Amino acid sequence: MDCLICRMEQGEALDRPLHEDPLVWAGHAPPEEGESDVYLGRCLMAPRRHAAGVADLSDAEAQAVGLWIARLGRALRASGAEHVYVFVLGHKVPHVHFHVIPRHPGTPREYWGVRVLEWPAAPRGGGEEVREVGARIRAAIDLAPGPAPGSNTGPPSS
Ligand SMILES: [Zn+2]
Repeated sequence: MDCLICRMEQGEALDRPLHEDPLVWAGHAPPEEGESDVYLGRCLMAPRRHAAGVADLSDAEAQAVGLWIARLGRALRASGAEHVYVFVLGHKVPHVHFHVIPRHPGTPREYWGVRVLEWPAAPRGGGEEVREVGARIRAAIDLAPGPAPGSNTGPPSS
C-alpha cells in the first residue's frame, strides 16, 4: 500500500521519529510536493495503524494521540513557539494524521491560523536543520512535563 504516513512510520523521513510507541508515531513533516525546504518545527502525529479518520481510532489510540499532541505542543512551546496549532486537514492521505504546528515569534497576524505555513519569512530548512530542530524537540519533550494532575491552568474560577 502506498501511504505517505505508513512510509514515514517505517522510516522514510528526514529525521528519526520524535516519538513512537505501539499505538502512535510522531515525526517532523516532509517538504510539500515540489519544495525542498520545510517549515521548521511542523510535526505530524498519527496512529501506527492505517486508520482513515478520527472516527476510526480505538479509544486507546485516541488517548495516545491526545497525550502526544499535548506533549508535542509543550515541547514546541518550550522550543520557542509563541502558539501551537493542531489541524486535521485534507483528504489526500487515507491515514489520519494531526499537524502540530508552531507559530514562530514574529509571525504577522495575517498568517495566524490556517495560513501559518504561508508566511514567507518563516524559518525553513532541509534535512540538517530538521535534524537540529528534532533534537531540540526531543530534548524538550523530556524536560517539559505537563502540569500536575488536578492543577488548574485556566483562569480563576471565582
Ligand atoms: Zn497508512
